[in-house]
Amino acid sequence: MTEPNAGVIIELKNIRKAFDGETVLDGINLDIHDKEFVTFLGPSGCGKTTTLRIIAGFETPDSGDVYFNGTKINDVPPYKRHVNTVFQKYALFPHLNVYENVAFGLRLGKKIGEEEISKRVKDMLRMVNLSGFERRDVNSLSGGQQQRVAIARALINEPKVLLLDEPLGALDLKLRKDMQNELKNIQMQTGITFIYVTHDQEEALSMSDIIVVMNEGVIQQIGTPTDIYNEPVNAFVADFIGESNILDGVMLEDYKARFSNQTFKCLDSGFKPGEAVDIVVRPEDVDVVPVEKGMLSGTVSSVTFKGVHYEIIVDIGGFKWMIQTTDFVEQGANIGLYIEPDAIHVMKKSEYSGMFGDYSTYSEEMDHLSDVIEEE
Ligand code: ATP
Repeated sequence: MTEPNAGVIIELKNIRKAFDGETVLDGINLDIHDKEFVTFLGPSGCGKTTTLRIIAGFETPDSGDVYFNGTKINDVPPYKRHVNTVFQKYALFPHLNVYENVAFGLRLGKKIGEEEISKRVKDMLRMVNLSGFERRDVNSLSGGQQQRVAIARALINEPKVLLLDEPLGALDLKLRKDMQNELKNIQMQTGITFIYVTHDQEEALSMSDIIVVMNEGVIQQIGTPTDIYNEPVNAFVADFIGESNILDGVMLEDYKARFSNQTFKCLDSGFKPGEAVDIVVRPEDVDVVPVEKGMLSGTVSSVTFKGVHYEIIVDIGGFKWMIQTTDFVEQGANIGLYIEPDAIHVMKKSEYSGMFGDYSTYSEEMDHLSDVIEEE
C-alpha cells in the first residue's frame, strides 16, 4: 500500500507491455481521478484497448504497477476489481430478456432479494431510457437499445469505475450523437468514473473531462478538451485533434517566428535562437483579407462548402494551407492571409510527420536562416 494520491482512483505506474516482441505500451504513467470522465484517444493500434484491459485485469503488464485507491492490484483477478467493462459488441445473453440481462450481475455473488433486484433493475432501465422494455427479447432491440442494456447491466453492481471500449462504434452517426449525450448524463448522475476508449476526436472532445492522447504506446498529452484543442503540445496532437496547418519554422528569438519565408509575431518564448520548430495554425484562425493587407498571399486551389463555413485550400510557396471562412471565395482567386500572434502555436520539433503538412519549404527555409538572423 502506498500513500493514496488525493482523489486518484486508478494509478498506472510505468506500464510496459509487448506482444510477440513488439512494444505496445512504452511506459504509461497516468493518474485517473474519482468521478471523472476520462477518454483514451489515439489512432488505431496505439495501445488504448491494451491499457483498458490492463486496468480491467484481462491483461497483465510486463512491468509496472496498477493501483486502485492506493492499493496495488496487479495480482487481483478481474472479477474482484471494482471495475466493469462495456465492449463495442454488446455481448448480451441472447436467451435472457432485457430484465434478466440487467439483473444478471445481481444474481451472482451475494444474495439479494427479488424485490430489491426488481427495484434496482427498474431504476437502471429508467436511467438508460428503457423503462417498459423489461420483457423484451434482446434480439428484437436496435443496436442503440442493446448497448443501453449492456450499460445498465454493467452499472447495476455499482462499480467504482466503468471501462467503455468504443461502445458506440457500431452505431450510426445520429444515434452516436444521442448516445454520447446520454452517456455523459449517466456518468454525471451516477458519479462513477468512466474510462472511455475512442479514436474519434469529436466524441472525445464533446464528452470528456480529461483526454489522454496516445500514439505508439506513449502518452502524448493529458488535458481538458480545451487544453488539448487550444494548446496541443506537439504536432501529432495538433494534427490528430481537429484540422491543422503544420509548417516547418524557425524561432528567431522570443515572440518572433519565421515560416513561409516571412517573420511573424507570436506569443511563444523559451526556444533557442534559430531553433527549428513546428508551427501549428488552426484553419479557423486564419483571416482571409485582400492581397495587399495579407501577411501571406496565394491562390485558392479549391473551395468546399461545409454547411456553416467554406473550407478553402490556398497554395503558398508549395504549402497547401487549409482555411475555414464564412466568406465565399472564388477558386483561382488571389487572396491575402492574416494571422494574429495568438493563432500561431510554436512547438518543439517532433519526429512525427503530419498527414496534411507539406514539408517541402523546410530546407529552403534553413538555407535562408543565417541571413535572416543577421538581418533581424
Ligand atoms: P484500436 O483503436 O484499433 O482498437 P488500440 O489503440 O485500442 O487500437 P490495441 O488494441 O491496444 O490498440 O492494440 C495495440 C497493438 O497491440 C496492436 O498492434 C495490436 O495488434 C496488438 N495486440 C493487441 N492485443 C494483442 C494480442 N493479444 N496479441 C498480439 N498482439 C496484440
